[in-house]
Amino acid sequence: MFQAMLDSVIGSLKGIPEHRSGGNIQYEIADAGLGAFGVFFTQSPSFLAYQRHMEQSQGRNNARSLFGVEKIPSDPQIRNLLDPVDPSHLQAPFWEIYEQLEADKHLQAYRQVGGTLLCSLDGTQFFASQKINCSNCTVRVQDEQEHYSHTVLAAVLVKPGSKHVIALDPEFITPQDGHDKQDCEQQAIKRWVRRNAGRFSSWGLTILTDDLHSHQPLCDLLLKHKVHFIMTCKTDSHKTLYEEVELLTGVEGAVKTMAVRHWNGRYGELHTYSWAKQVPLRTGAEVLQVNWCEVTVVREDTGRQLYHSAWITSHELTEETVPQVVAAGRAHWKVENENFNVLKNRGYRLEHNYGHGKQHLATVLLSLLLLSFLFHTVLHLCSPRYQAIREKLGPRRTFFNDLRALTRYMYFDSWDSLLDFMCEKLELAPG
Ligand SMILES: [Zn+2]
Repeated sequence: MFQAMLDSVIGSLKGIPEHRSGGNIQYEIADAGLGAFGVFFTQSPSFLAYQRHMEQSQGRNNARSLFGVEKIPSDPQIRNLLDPVDPSHLQAPFWEIYEQLEADKHLQAYRQVGGTLLCSLDGTQFFASQKINCSNCTVRVQDEQEHYSHTVLAAVLVKPGSKHVIALDPEFITPQDGHDKQDCEQQAIKRWVRRNAGRFSSWGLTILTDDLHSHQPLCDLLLKHKVHFIMTCKTDSHKTLYEEVELLTGVEGAVKTMAVRHWNGRYGELHTYSWAKQVPLRTGAEVLQVNWCEVTVVREDTGRQLYHSAWITSHELTEETVPQVVAAGRAHWKVENENFNVLKNRGYRLEHNYGHGKQHLATVLLSLLLLSFLFHTVLHLCSPRYQAIREKLGPRRTFFNDLRALTRYMYFDSWDSLLDFMCEKLELAPG
């Protein structure tokens, strides 16, 4: 699987049109992209420096054997080669890897409510500065000071109860239509849906969002593309809907409730579900009717409330499906916790020492970083040897420390050889 995924990345990088004038030099762009990818994949800022040293002393190196870097560019070369590259050139590998996972039936376990895949969409800022900037920065002026930033709308497949989120092609939030009109997350989410909804089977996808997006324009767009939704629905931002729910509570059988006991291993929880069908999302003409549900979780012994939230959805609500819809809605936060948190705080050092660039460098590097994160997730899902090694080594940090040290001092002719070596030394059964 590693080689198939890498071939997909190599294919995309080699397909990038040459932006320099002169002879046949496009392969260096691929080398720059693969070199940066190697740094993110090994979480080793010095990876390329070590491999240059190995090349000098041994005439071979792991950047070439593991990641296909034919000639290792210098850091300034990487910056110069990648800065003009439009990040849309790196969309294809995300989808090729997704299609491979689908073909190999690895996504079956990710099918939840009504057999749909759950895709959580959320924005996060990944760069902020008052000084460093590029032509694609979002600019905000406060107290006569310009603030530059980059935000990405991440899309990840989530599964309740699993910490493995599968990164899909992201949408970058950049100034649109020239630089005066600032983009925003709502537009980015619509662009993502228009661009990607067709990649999923009709009614085979459920989009999960927070309250910011749970409004009619996005719901209409999703339904038009035959995509389901489960979106957080707060009282202060959905006055019409909650007035209707309030009215319906006076009508017998209109708002259903159900309580389920749940033992969490330490104490009993009481999950109380309420739901209503076909309530108006807003006032005015052509109002969309949506289904609504909420859950309140109370600790049984003390009566203390542990959790409460509510959602709107296009899914049918029954006694059987409400708990599934709620579990899916609650899994939305995984985009924050299992994705952004890992990317920002667990060793994927985005900015490294490549700097920010003048055009696209920041977004190209983020795409490569997301791809390296995806590689590790897919290996965890599909490679029993990789799984066994990660399990044996315990904390994430230990695995990456070993990966850094091994690739610094030893040469491996392929990713498989590296895994073989680790399995052997850790006395794990060969897979
Ligand atoms: Zn910028």
